[in-house]
Amino acid sequence: TPRFAQFKLVLLGESAVGKSSIVHRFVKDQFDEFRESTIGAAFLTQTVLLPNNITIKFEIWDTAGQERYKSLAPMYYRNANCAIIVYDITQESSLEKAKQWVKELQRQANQDIIIALAGNKLDLAESDPSTRKIKKEDAFTYSREENLLFFEVSAKTGEGVKNIFQSIAKKLPID
Ligand code: GDP
Ligand code: MG
Repeated sequence: TPRFAQFKLVLLGESAVGKSSIVHRFVKDQFDEFRESTIGAAFLTQTVLLPNNITIKFEIWDTAGQERYKSLAPMYYRNANCAIIVYDITQESSLEKAKQWVKELQRQANQDIIIALAGNKLDLAESDPSTRKIKKEDAFTYSREENLLFFEVSAKTGEGVKNIFQSIAKKLPID
């Protein structure tokens, strides 16, 4: 029998790490170099199909990373079923910022929230390895310690992006 469930998902992370580009890639399967930066937050939806005729609809809140919007974040992660925390593998500071978001969610969000950590801009490190500032191994080890799903992705090429959402969908509780 077909089943349908919807879940609230929030994207968090430092400004310019590629949150909006990841969502745009997932929802429209497009990348656009000159996307304007997000003001406040944007709302989008997209569905994922799982085996056994299960449809998962994500209600996605793409937040602005700027410090001046930080006080708004709880509105978006409150009641969220899942979160994608994004960093940029070519920006050292962005992983520290991501870790702060993980801590904040672990303290303030739903107890059973599913958190995925996504290292974006993999295409840059693939074309020039010297641009990589965060080792995959380090982020992976951290993710394991904190019980997070972990991915390296590129919104630009699309590599790994669908997989984040598919993997989250598989972990969501469906009755
Ligand atoms: P946000 O502030 O986290 O929402 O980041 P944006 O999605 O607005 O992207 C910030 C900048 O990074 C833009 O110039 C994007 O074109 C660029 N960008 C985003 N994702 C990627 C990616 O996977 N690879 C590369 N090379 N650039 C990216
Ligand atoms: Mg944005």
